[in-house]
Amino acid sequence: MPPSVEPTVIRSPYDGRVLGEVPAHTPADVDAAVARAARALGEQPLPVWRRVEILERAADALSGRHAEFATTIADEAAKPIRTARQEVDRAISTIRFSAAEARRLTGEMVALDATAQGADKLGFTMRLPIGVVGAIAPFNFPLNLVAHKLAPAVAAGCPVVLKPAEQTPFSALALADVFQAAGLPQDYLQVVTGEGATVGAAIVDHPAVAFVSFTGSPEVGWQIRSRAPRKRVALELGNNSPLIVEADSDWAAAAAKTAVAGFSHAGQSCVSTQRVYVHRSVHDAFVEALVGHVERLVVGDPLAESTDVSALISADARDRVVTWIEEASAQGADVRTGGTLTDHGVLRPTVLTGVRPGMRVSDCEVFGPVVGVAAYDTIDAAIELANTTEYGLQAGVFTRDLGTALRVARELDFGGVLVNEVPTWRADQQPYGGVRESGNTREGPAYTIREMTELRMVVLGA
Ligand code: NAD
Repeated sequence: MPPSVEPTVIRSPYDGRVLGEVPAHTPADVDAAVARAARALGEQPLPVWRRVEILERAADALSGRHAEFATTIADEAAKPIRTARQEVDRAISTIRFSAAEARRLTGEMVALDATAQGADKLGFTMRLPIGVVGAIAPFNFPLNLVAHKLAPAVAAGCPVVLKPAEQTPFSALALADVFQAAGLPQDYLQVVTGEGATVGAAIVDHPAVAFVSFTGSPEVGWQIRSRAPRKRVALELGNNSPLIVEADSDWAAAAAKTAVAGFSHAGQSCVSTQRVYVHRSVHDAFVEALVGHVERLVVGDPLAESTDVSALISADARDRVVTWIEEASAQGADVRTGGTLTDHGVLRPTVLTGVRPGMRVSDCEVFGPVVGVAAYDTIDAAIELANTTEYGLQAGVFTRDLGTALRVARELDFGGVLVNEVPTWRADQQPYGGVRESGNTREGPAYTIREMTELRMVVLGA
């Protein structure tokens, strides 16, 4: 799209290196993009066989450009390169699952002859593209979360106007190239870059956008929901994921997994393991094991093969997290490791103990490299602590007791409950999403594709 005003320079969050420029689009650019998208849907509807062909070609092309995409993610998001490669693998799966779902996107027969008045009639449903999809993405998975919106939209036959996060436009722009080279008509995918408050808001407000798919913070997400009451709005928002570790469990495995799940991409995952409740009888041993693992994490350059943890997305984000750690410490939490900055200004992975409700590191989403641990005495107390949150995306429990596992699965009020796994674990084909403050949808190709279609009822008379 032609830039309407001066381009915006994007820099590496790790070392400030200039990575490139993108246009600062305006609401007028969004208007034009949506109009082209709506026209494309009317004039060039995509039959299912073409959707599948485009998705399969795009997945193959992304595999072929794997290394380049991983480097782009590492550069723009400061995501360690090994984690960035996993994101590329996942995006390829997301696209392949979407191709598979496109193939089985069918309506169903409705038994009209189940009443006397419909005895001479035949009824069935069709699934038709809902219309133009407005997709608004966050910075933390700049490729796979874009793929989770784009690929199901293609599978459903919908054109997309996509706005990546300000800091991470390059993965989305490169993915758009991949899709267009795979045969997606130009106007079926237009990327608009720029500020959320202008470009994002223009997408939300546009009357020809039928479906807004938003992943990001609850503040922005719920404001979008109330701004677009007549649209379908899918929200994937934040969390402060709890993990319960029972005395009978493999708590050493839980400690090892937490050292990865709390610090992957410096804790900037919506399901980063943040609050860990450990049975008092194993609490000290768990903390010792966790701190040992965390102190072995390598902090540094996202492009270095050995790096486990790198910079937060901005200096402001880092300073906020440091303030929250200091505040928790003043409120009685112990900083067991971390809490300080490296020479490059990167916040070291931090483990706190004695964390309790009332501290921001417990009540809010930290979105930084911080895990807070607390001891509990009974499973009732642990369930209550885990549920003491306005969020509800994913939660986990480590236990060898089947009864406890089933009870926790029922009583934890979250969109997903993981047993003997950290709450950070996600498969791209699962229904993923939250309750309460964490959102109102389940993302995953099989679920998203249905949300992106309208059901049409067809009645055939004799
Ligand atoms: P953010 O809300 O600041 O931004 C997300 C996107 O919204 C960006 O593209 C931004 O430009 C845009 N935006 C901002 N203001 C807007 C407005 N007024 N109207 C329309 N669009 C607007 O979030 P972020 O900092 O990029 O991402 C972090 C948040 O995302 C965290 O809360 C995290 O938990 C959440 N997240 C959730 C999931 C999930 O699947 N549930 C996944 C990843 C991230």
